[in-house]
Amino acid sequence: MAVDQFQDSETVEKVMVTPYLPVAAMSEIQSWLSQGFAVFHRVVPQVNGAGCKNCGDLGVLYVTKCKIGPISSPRYANKSIVWFDGDGRAGKGWYVIDETIAYDCTNCSGADRVV
Ligand SMILES: [Zn+2]
Repeated sequence: MAVDQFQDSETVEKVMVTPYLPVAAMSEIQSWLSQGFAVFHRVVPQVNGAGCKNCGDLGVLYVTKCKIGPISSPRYANKSIVWFDGDGRAGKGWYVIDETIAYDCTNCSGADRVV
């Protein structure tokens, strides 16, 4: 039983979903981009049996705002960083995270779940 569950999760990890974001998140993203900064939001795995297909039952959707990046070797003390492979708009390299915001999922309203 446990082995089957593991194999299922291995399979579904190959299918990723870009979730629909709430209006407040889209507004924040547009504002941030218009200032010339980078924004990333989390792509979630499509989980078999998940009650919410938008967030994979996370309940929230994360938006990460970065002012600095892409750079090859970040050295900003006490700052978190994130790697991005580049997509034609945002370049490949490290980004220094200014803020990560969690928004309630537009589909399931972000119900807290004990894990
Ligand atoms: Zn959801």
